[in-house]
Order: sequence, then C-alpha cells, then structure tokens
Amino acid sequence: MTQETRSTCPYCGVGCGVIIESDGAQITGVRGDPDHPANFGKLCSKGSTLHLTAAAAVTQQVRLLHPMRREHRGERATRVSWDQALGFATETFAQVIRADGPDAVGFYISGQLLTEDYYVFNKLAKGLIGTNNIDTNSRLCMSSAVAGYKMTLGADAPPSCYDDVNHAGCIFIAGSNAAWAHPVLFRRIEEARAANPAMKIVCCDPRRTDTADIADLFLAIQPGTDVMLFHGMLHVMLWEGWVRHDWIGRHTSGFDELKATVRDCTPDSVAQVCGIRKEDLLEAARLFATSPATLSLYCQGLNQSTSGTAKNAALINLHLATAQIGRPGAGPFSLTGQPNAMGGREVGGLANLLSAHRDLANPQHRAEVAALWGVPSVPEKPGKTAVEMFQAAADGEIKALWIACTNPAQSMPDQATVRRALERAEFVVVQEAFLTTATCDYADLLLPATTWGEKTGTVTNSERRISRVRPAVPPPGSTRHDWAIAVDFARRLERKLRPGIATLFPYSTTAPEAGVEAVWNEHRESTRGRDLDITGMSYALLEKAPLQWPMRSGEAQGKLRLYEDGIFPTPDGKARFANVTYRPVAEPRESRFPFSLTTGRLRDQWHGMSRTGTLGRLFGHVAEPSVQMNPQDMQRRGLAEGDLVHLTSKRGSIVVPVQGTEQVGLSQAFMAMHWGGEYLGGLSNTGQPLAGVNALTTSAFCPTSKQPELKHAAVKILKA
Ligand code: SF4
Repeated sequence: MTQETRSTCPYCGVGCGVIIESDGAQITGVRGDPDHPANFGKLCSKGSTLHLTAAAAVTQQVRLLHPMRREHRGERATRVSWDQALGFATETFAQVIRADGPDAVGFYISGQLLTEDYYVFNKLAKGLIGTNNIDTNSRLCMSSAVAGYKMTLGADAPPSCYDDVNHAGCIFIAGSNAAWAHPVLFRRIEEARAANPAMKIVCCDPRRTDTADIADLFLAIQPGTDVMLFHGMLHVMLWEGWVRHDWIGRHTSGFDELKATVRDCTPDSVAQVCGIRKEDLLEAARLFATSPATLSLYCQGLNQSTSGTAKNAALINLHLATAQIGRPGAGPFSLTGQPNAMGGREVGGLANLLSAHRDLANPQHRAEVAALWGVPSVPEKPGKTAVEMFQAAADGEIKALWIACTNPAQSMPDQATVRRALERAEFVVVQEAFLTTATCDYADLLLPATTWGEKTGTVTNSERRISRVRPAVPPPGSTRHDWAIAVDFARRLERKLRPGIATLFPYSTTAPEAGVEAVWNEHRESTRGRDLDITGMSYALLEKAPLQWPMRSGEAQGKLRLYEDGIFPTPDGKARFANVTYRPVAEPRESRFPFSLTTGRLRDQWHGMSRTGTLGRLFGHVAEPSVQMNPQDMQRRGLAEGDLVHLTSKRGSIVVPVQGTEQVGLSQAFMAMHWGGEYLGGLSNTGQPLAGVNALTTSAFCPTSKQPELKHAAVKILKA
C-alpha cells in the first residue's frame, strides 16, 4: 500500500519540500510539496527524479550497506560487524590521541549532513576529544558568505527571503548560475518578472550562462574582478548623488574610509580591469541604486575566491550605501549551494565557530558552550580548516581522519595534495551512503550511513527556514543514521578518555525519533538569546510547517526578513562598511598558462554524481565531460569540436574533449565540477582513480574565510 511522507530535497540550498511515495521498503515516487513555502509544489530535474535515483542505487548496488574493514591499503575491504567496526575505530582514535594529542585527529564532514548530525560531530570533536579540527565541505561553499555578513552586518544571518523576489524592482545576480544551480528559485524570478515587466535583472559573471540570458544587463567581467566592479559602482553612485547619506548617518559606520578607497575606482579604470564597457558600469550602478527595491543574489562566483570575503563585503557595501536593505524586495541574499550548509553554520560545525553562531576566538563564547555541554572547557587553539586539514595530514601532523558524507578525493582543490594526505594518514574512516565515491578507495574503515528517504532530522535552507527531513523507508542493510554512528563512537571513546563520567551524549540511538529530537532540543537551547534564537520552535511545530529563524520563545512565527528596524547585531547597533581592497586572482594567467579556467555546476548533476550519476536520463542534458572554450581560441590553436586536449595547470593535467561555445570569453575555459575519474578514462599511472577538474584547481584561499579559489586556475590547453 502506498504511503506518503513529507520531507525535503537533499540537493541544493533552495530546500524544496517533497512528498515521498513509498510501498514497504521501496521509494516509488516523489512530487513537490504544494504547501512548502520554498517551492509551492515545484521541483527541478534533480528533485523530481529522486525516487528514480533511490531505486537505481539499489539495482546498481552502489550503496554501502555494511561496515567494511580494509586490513591493508589497496586490498579489498571485507565485511565486519558494527561492534567490530566501532571498536576498531575507538581503539585507533584513542591510541592516536594518547600518543600524539587531540590535534592529531581531524573530522571532515559535510553540508549535506542534517543539523543533528552536525551537532553531534561538533560536540564529539570540541567537547569530548578536545580538538577544533573539525571542518566541512561548507568551507568550500559558504565560508566567505559567513565572513562577509559578520564583517558588515554583525552576524551570519542572510537578511532576505525568497518572497523578496516578488517585491524587487531590480535583481542583481553576481557569480551565480541560478538557472542551473538553484532552478526552482530561478523559476520564481522568471515568474516575478512576468508579473512585473518593469523589473530589471542585472547579471555579472565571466560566463554568459543561462542565467545571464534573461538579464537586461549582462556584465561579462574578467574572473576575480568583482570587488573592482562593486567599488566602481559605488564610485558612480557617489558621483551621481545616488547614495543615501541620511540613512548611512543613522545606521552605519565606516563610510568615510570606504569613500576614500573607491575614489580611485574611476569608471575608466574599472571598465579596463573588469573588461566591460564603461556605459554598462554606469547603468549597473543606476539600476542598483535607483530601483525602488534591489535584491542581490550571489553564490560561488563570489565565495570560492581568495578575495571571497572582500567580494561579499563589497557587494553588501552597495546595499548599505543605497539603503537597499531591510525592506520587502531589498537586501543582500547569499544562496547556499548545499542543502544544509546553513544548519552546519548554526551549530558551529566549522573549525572557527561554536554552537549558535558563537566564535571560537571569543573566550566568553567558549565558556558558554563549555557550560552548555558540561565540560571543563572548549579548546582555544583554532582548528584546521578544510585545506589546512588535508595539508596537515599530508605533512604527517594529522594522523587519523574521519570523513562523513563528502568526497574530498574529488571535491577538494589540488587533488595531488589531498590524495597524498589520504595515503599518508595512518587511519582513515569514511562514513558514507555510497560505495562509489573516490574517497572510499582510501578508507581503512567504511561505515554505512542512511541517506535521503531514510534519514530523520532537520535542515535549514538559504532563507533561514528549518524543514523536517523524514524517513519514508527503513534503513537498508546495516546502515545507520549519521548522528547515531557518531553517538555510538563518542560513547565508546568517552569510556576510554573519561571513564566513570556521565555521558555527554545522552541521546537514544535505539529509538531514533526520540534520539534525534533530543539532539535538536539541545541545539535549540544553545541558541537562546543568540541572533538565531529558535527557542520558540519545536519538533511538534516543525511537523506542521517549516519555520524561519529567529523565532524566540513565545513568538508565533519566525522572521521573514531581518533588519527592518535598521538595527544591526553589532555593539553600536550600526552596520559597518567594509573598507576592502581589490586583489587579483591568486594565479593570474601568464604566457605558460594563458587561459583562465573557471568551474561550476551542470543543471542535472549534483556534486560527484554518486546519486545523479546512477540515472541515464540525467545525462540527457550534458552527456560527457568537456572543457568549453571560445570558438576563436579554438581556431587559433587549430582545435576542432570534440578534439581531445591536455588541460594542464601547475598542479596537474587531465585529458578531455573540447567544446566550442560563445558563452565562454576569450582566453577563458570552463569545466563542470562533477566529472570524476570514472568519466575521465579510468586509472592514472600510479593506479589511482583519476581526479576530475580539481586535479587542476588551486588550494590558495581567502585569508579571512579560508575558502579556496575553486573558481579560478591558470591553465594551458594543448591538443592531445
Ligand atoms: Fe532540489 Fe534544489 Fe531542485 Fe529544489 S531547486 S528540487 S532543492 S535541487
């Protein structure tokens, strides 16, 4: 008999509600939830095929269903019991911690984990083991947005909401191909413009994407020049008198310093650096400043950069200078790439954060979290962020790695270093739902986790909305929920490290619905009095409808948009202009590497394709990997459509077919991030699966957010 279960799509940060149809242990269908405010029933090609990928994962036997242990690297892993697996993990971690200290271990987790999973892992590392070496693939996704918000508005809180799309007079899209990466939100933009033909859309991106195609004004900027563009727009706004000095005086600080910085960003110089027409710069400034309400939407083009924080802050500066914030349709709005990067930030699941948007560097915040957890202290020493963690493992400093729900052997930049790290680490645990990820090949221990359709917990989408994730079918094989695996391991480890002391993890793993709610309740309590206070929410309320934070105790609903009163969460209540300066990309193109390689997503694939790659129809849009170039560049180099080329950076080389497109500018190239070794021709000379485009990308990162510059590398392209 068919059952229906309300849940949430596990792909992008739009966070669409879904209704899962199931029959016994089989997921048989999926449709959009008409009552979910993120999508009102709509789903994109990825979301609407979730049931098919779930079925394909079973028939293609790509699920990891039982704990597996590899006695020696390079050998086949063999099945072990959960007791043996967690016993082995506990012994090994305890041994490393005793011999080399808590900072000799590291946890690398994921923006695709649920908030409860994240919370337990964070407490395990910082509360029990005493290391801040816990970071996540959200570092590759959102950490520049976090730093940009904190630097300017005082808290990591996206002030806008999806409803703002319907009220905007101008939508400014920067570094985001929302048409492919956030399709359901993009449909909302198209519908809003159809309803309001006066709405203007401005898009800035090095590539003429499908998103750029709907723009009234498209600025094809040179890669990495966003800060220069935004400063140039502010220069024009000042010159033309479009800046709101009255509002700035009441609600902000630091404008005079920024004014001095942008004085030199004249339209001529900005047009030259950004590679755009001066007239287009002037028009962009006019549309942004004079629209009744301007909403900016931005994503990895701003975040994945060595200037990631500066780019975010420079765009927010424009909102502050023109008072385009805190009103319907007006505000900066970072789009989250992953389904729960927001939830991870909320529980402090990054190496520099603590629960409920607290900062590790703040002694009072550390003391508050220690008191909440009932531990003597939280370690002060900053943890290793993603790039630093793998570098430390490659250097032999981190000896044991626990990787959950992510595939760093494909998704991290500079794969040579990452793979060296995975080889050198003495012990690698991979907690995964899919057996096919490249990282599984490096694991000493594989722990099978539940996935979409089986999991229970919560996620938060880009507009601060918390939704329930519910199980429609029982966990297959011996799979267990991510948070429950972490709890069982933590309890075993605390018996070794803190014998005789009451457990820090009093959540039932045998009654998972009660256990997961207990974890969430503890997280909720940690938010009391914080900017993301959710003490007015409960699982019972979330059962009825998804809710936006903050929602304090006694409040009937959450906040649609923030800062409507013009008061910001800073010591003086004022937003702060960020006096940031333009810096070029870490690796400018030069004579030996004359092309700028940018990376991005395809419409129908997700991350390393462990789920979407199981379904033939999702290859109908783009069937195989390629590097895209401008046809003029191909002609100059004697390349024809489909020719195989060596695509080479200072760090590595891959062979792919070339494809000509006017979407890519001169001296630029583009390759999608999804294609891993299995799509690029099997094994390397050393017998390892080949890496995808991240064999080429650089691990240079933003000094503030530590987010690496996945969006740009200098490459050469030679016929193979
Ligand atoms: Fe899922 Fe994002 Fe598509 Fe919505 S837009 S269905 S959340 S992938």
